[in-house]
Amino acid sequence: MLEERSAGAILYRESPSGKFYLLLNYPSGHWDFVKGNIEKGETFRQTVVREIKEETGISDVSFIDGFEDKVQYHYQRDGELVHKEVVFFLAKTPTERVEISHEHLGFIWLKFNDAMQKLTYKTAQNLMRKVSELGFKT
Ligand code: ATP
Repeated sequence: MLEERSAGAILYRESPSGKFYLLLNYPSGHWDFVKGNIEKGETFRQTVVREIKEETGISDVSFIDGFEDKVQYHYQRDGELVHKEVVFFLAKTPTERVEISHEHLGFIWLKFNDAMQKLTYKTAQNLMRKVSELGFKT
């Protein structure tokens, strides 16, 4: 079985009407948080900062301490089973403007409940639930 490791972020921005969370539309059709493969020698947080920049153009990101969680899943790639683990952080940005990379079909900023509905996978919804359970005001 192949092993794959990524890191990503539940990225939000504050607006007068509350927090908005960023979701990306992946080429295989699902909606998920920004994430990407860990490159050799990178810390998880370095991967997240790099991937956010590459995938959205956003360069001013700060991490919210106290949140780090991991999701795992399996998928088939070219007939081979892949076991994938993705470490997620909680991060914020003042930037609304997104320049989506060619690796994605689109993006959307959504309020907490709308983001919960838009996320394709239960693992991602569970992450958001954990964020809200932290006492973090969503
Ligand atoms: P990365 O952003 O880490 O570079 P990627 O774009 O290469 O990732 P994934 O988003 O991991 O790929 O998707 C690879 C496959 O796994 C797709 O078929 C997708 O539908 C499936 N997949 C993605 N996330 C999950 C999940 N949380 N649970 C189950 N299957 C998932």
